[in-house]
Amino acid sequence: MSAAPEAAGDGGVAIVGAGPAGLMAAQALAERGHAVVIFERMPSPARKFLLAGRGGLNLTHSEPQHAFLARYGETPELLAKAITSFMPQHLRDWSDTLGEPTFVGSSGRVFPKSFKASPLARAWLARLAGMGVTLKTRHRFIGFDGPDGLVFETPEGEQRIRPAATLLALGGASWARLGSDGAWTGPLSKAGVAISPLAPSNVGCEIGWSETFRERFAGAPLKRIALACGDMIQRGEAVVTETGLEGGAVYALSRPLREQLAGAGAAQLVADLRPDLSVDEIAAKLTRAGESKRSDTLSNRLRKALALDPVAIGLLREAHGVDLPRAPEALAAAIKAAPLTVTGLRPMDRAISSAGGVAFPAIDDAFMLKARPGTFIAGEMLDWEAPTGGYLLQACFATGVAAGEGIAAWLKARESA
Ligand SMILES: Cc1cc2nc3c(=O)[nH]c(=O)nc-3n(C[C@H](O)[C@H](O)[C@H](O)COP(=O)(O)OP(=O)(O)OC[C@H]3O[C@@H](n4cnc5c(N)ncnc54)[C@H](O)[C@@H]3O)c2cc1C
Repeated sequence: MSAAPEAAGDGGVAIVGAGPAGLMAAQALAERGHAVVIFERMPSPARKFLLAGRGGLNLTHSEPQHAFLARYGETPELLAKAITSFMPQHLRDWSDTLGEPTFVGSSGRVFPKSFKASPLARAWLARLAGMGVTLKTRHRFIGFDGPDGLVFETPEGEQRIRPAATLLALGGASWARLGSDGAWTGPLSKAGVAISPLAPSNVGCEIGWSETFRERFAGAPLKRIALACGDMIQRGEAVVTETGLEGGAVYALSRPLREQLAGAGAAQLVADLRPDLSVDEIAAKLTRAGESKRSDTLSNRLRKALALDPVAIGLLREAHGVDLPRAPEALAAAIKAAPLTVTGLRPMDRAISSAGGVAFPAIDDAFMLKARPGTFIAGEMLDWEAPTGGYLLQACFATGVAAGEGIAAWLKARESA
């Protein structure tokens, strides 16, 4: 894409934010013949998308639609509509057309075969450039100028433009050094837009480990466990860190952890170290192991009977105290429910995504701000939340498409009015 130095965008469509949501909207608009200029504050586009590629780029998920939509909690109707109009299969087809075919992993997650974001981003940016889309980097949106103007801070000083329509796709607030810092809440609040507070999501939690546990097990993975917070249970993996736990099983519980922390100042995670077995099955295995070799230490019994590794046994002691119950039934119950007190979540900058954002009642069916006709919103800036697994990118792509189509329809209606 050309990175022209002069200010432009007057009369065309201005897209602010060159992440997945903004770029997808640019494509939808360019396909409909609109002149599009993308403004990006960083020296290069799609930095978070490129970082996501380091983890294999989990583009979307293959599970059935009802299960997929349930991942967004009480899915706002408009988000569900955008995702059902631009489904995981559409996203896979789109990736295919850019020379990056996808595959479904054993967990149902969808990845590009290359496991990388950079070839996809390169091909996508080249396609957009070929469609006449202009990219202006180092343009930081700092506020509105009247009912349809935008103000940017640029290396050449402050610049003002008056586009025919604007899409703000400025992302959430995690990993601020990649560009999205949530500073947009200032101008949008000033414009009367309702915003739910931004909060870390898909984030690790803080637990006050004993020094012994921390020294011995920081960095060790807890495999095939289940974690529960309130009535939400998540199977998966977690990694012990110096300050608590990280990993998919914890990330998925961000919302209930956040809610408990906000209410009581602390939250409780309950670890099930053998989620595939019932208390009775575990007790039976422990009894058999005890009968076969009475001189075994408790750790040996746990290892032989239940394949618990040292970190799982350490966690058990961390949760229940060093003197674990000896009776098989009581020990089995302890293995199925090891309580851990969570004192906080890791900071926003360590979160994969952020919850909160522009409230859905603040936008209409075309993703346009009710308080600012002609200004549309897409991507993580909107108030939805989902676990890792491809749900984040799918929602960003889908709302980008929906907002792009919304802008095209709005401009057409204005033209014919
Ligand atoms: C480490 C990591 C790994 C991830 N892995 C995955 C994954 O595998 N699968 C998945 O589904 N999701 C993943 N995500 C989440 C996913 O990358 C984001 O949800 C997604 O990029 C959000 O897209 P967006 O377009 O809404 O915002 P962003 O990608 O954040 O893009 C917004 C753009 O706006 C720009 N901008 C912000 N403010 C301004 C301003 N004032 N003026 C001008 N420009 C501005 C930013 O610089 C940025 O380029 C991951 C996130 C992280 C941090």
